[in-house]
Parts: sequence; C-alpha cells; structure tokens
Amino acid sequence: METNTEILFTFLDGHATRLSEKEELLYLEGLYETAKAWAEGKIEPETGEATKEEIRKALQLAVLKGMRASAQPHHQMTPDSIGLLAGYFTDRLSKGRPYVTLFDPAAGTGNLLFTVMNFMDGRTAASAVEIDDLLIRIAAVTADLLAQPVSLYHQDALRPLMVDPVDFIISDLPVGYYPDDVNAADYKLKADEGHSYAHHLFIEQSMRHLKKGGHGLFIVPANLFDSQFATQLHTFLKDEAEILAVLALPSGLFKTQAHAKSILILKKPDLEQGPKPEVLLANAPDMKNAKALESFFAKVDAWAEENGYRTN
Ligand code: SAM
Repeated sequence: METNTEILFTFLDGHATRLSEKEELLYLEGLYETAKAWAEGKIEPETGEATKEEIRKALQLAVLKGMRASAQPHHQMTPDSIGLLAGYFTDRLSKGRPYVTLFDPAAGTGNLLFTVMNFMDGRTAASAVEIDDLLIRIAAVTADLLAQPVSLYHQDALRPLMVDPVDFIISDLPVGYYPDDVNAADYKLKADEGHSYAHHLFIEQSMRHLKKGGHGLFIVPANLFDSQFATQLHTFLKDEAEILAVLALPSGLFKTQAHAKSILILKKPDLEQGPKPEVLLANAPDMKNAKALESFFAKVDAWAEENGYRTN
C-alpha cells in the first residue's frame, strides 16, 4: 500500500511535470505553481488527512528531483538526518519553553527550517531569508501548506536585515567566497585582501540577530577551524560567542571528505546566565544505527543536564 508521502509526491510530481512541459517552465517552477494551486484549494491530492511531516517529505522529494534536473549545486537541500538532529538540539536547548523564535538566513526551500518547526510543532515562529527568488517562493508556499508561521524575505542576508533578534538561528550556511567586497567591509570577519568567506560573514551576521543568551546552530564545513581565515574566526568567537558544541556529521552523508560538514552550536553570551558551559565534542552517528543513536542522545542529554539545560 502506498504511503501518504508517496501519494502526495505522485500528485505533486504529476502536476509539476505536466505544467512544466506544457508551459515550458523549469520543473521547480511547475512544482511551485502546483503547490500554490494546492495551497489555494484549486487542486487536491487523493489522500486522507496528511501530517505536516508527510507533506514536507513529499515536497522535499519533488524539490530534490527538480534540483537534480537544474543542477544547482549552491542550493543543496539540507538532508533530513541533519534536520532531525537540528530539531532535537533546538528542542533540548529551548529547555521546554512553550514558545521560541527562529531565523534561517540562508533558507533555500526551507527544508531544514520546516523540519525543526515540525519537530517543535506549535512552539515556534520563524523568519527566513533567501537570495534565490524561486527557492523562497517554494519556501513560502510550503509554509502555507504546513501551516507554519514564517516571515520570508527575498534578499542578500549579509545586507542589513529587518529581522528582530531571535532565540535560535538555524542555518545550513552557503560555503565559499562572498563576491561583494564593499558590503563585506562592514564585518569584522572580512578578509584583509580579496573576497571574504561567506560562511564566516553569515556567522557574524547571525550573532548580531540573536538575543542575549540565544543560540546559533550552523551546518559548517568540517574544516572550519583549519581554513585560511581560521585565526580571525577564533578571535571573533572568543570575543563574541560561547562555543557550546562541535558535532562531526557522518561521512556517509557527503560525496567526498572535502564536502564533509559539522554542526557548530554557539551561544550569544548573557552575563546573567552563570558559568560558561562545557564544549560538547562528539561524532554524530549514522541515523540508521539505532543503538549508536541512543547512546549519542544519552551523551547529549547528560551534557545538557550538567550544563544548565534542564527541561523543568
Ligand atoms: N537549509 C536549506 C534547505 O534545507 O533547503 C539549504 C540551504 S543551502 C545549503 C544555502 C542557501 O543559501 C542556498 O539556497 C543559497 O541560495 C543561499 N544563499 C547563498 N548566499 C546567500 C546570501 N548572500 N543571502 C541569502 N541566501 C544566500
């Protein structure tokens, strides 16, 4: 028997394919039009009541198909296993608070953000920025279909933002050089010569948009602290942030070692909040390995308890 996710994917894929062929659109454009028509009640899939996760996963499969077709390497979607870890950590660090605000400054189609919002359903409101017009339109219609409260901004996230400080920033950062040297000049992490690293500037911009005591969870290159500008980054983090955790992600998630990523969790210092927490250093296990996952979460829970992240 087909699952709801499969039925929804077939529905989205069928409409998006027909529309893109008929109107000579990109598949992703056809998918956007299809999702919009669904959100507006003009077309309906033949499923019973689908859950938010079933809808997110079906859209994610269709977006992945569209991204493969248009080969947009910069727009790689954050895999579910990383999103679920991000959800778990955001929930744990929120200490069971009934409501927290989130922000993703490089949201793509929002898969990472919506995975976290669905994980903490009903307890979050979010803002998101994305530079690519089509991706942010898909993120907007996904927010409607999932009934998740998100304010979306189509702009360069390294320019001034109209986003109030938030409790959590969650972002799979774009990696590479930022082409706008004039704008980069506003950042402490700018390169002395030539282009700066976009992912470093994103970390600095994020720290500006966190509340005191707020947390930033970033998907970063595994070699973040060994790169050309690592010394500068170390100094910045020492002065402006507390490093809470560095979690190496399983190598199987990435094409090559050069593409390997880690999760970096930072806290914006709040002098009223007691001693600095210990840094959690760990290898995140393969999500399919239930035993390894259980012992990883036990380690995280023990670390959280010891460092003031009790849930009651
Ligand atoms: N988390 C996203 C998801 O689940 O779909 C994927 C994020 S992807 C790794 C990084 C995103 O950053 C891309 O969608 C890219 O278009 C966007 N981006 C790159 N430079 C940007 C900028 N200066 N301002 C805003 N977004 C940017």
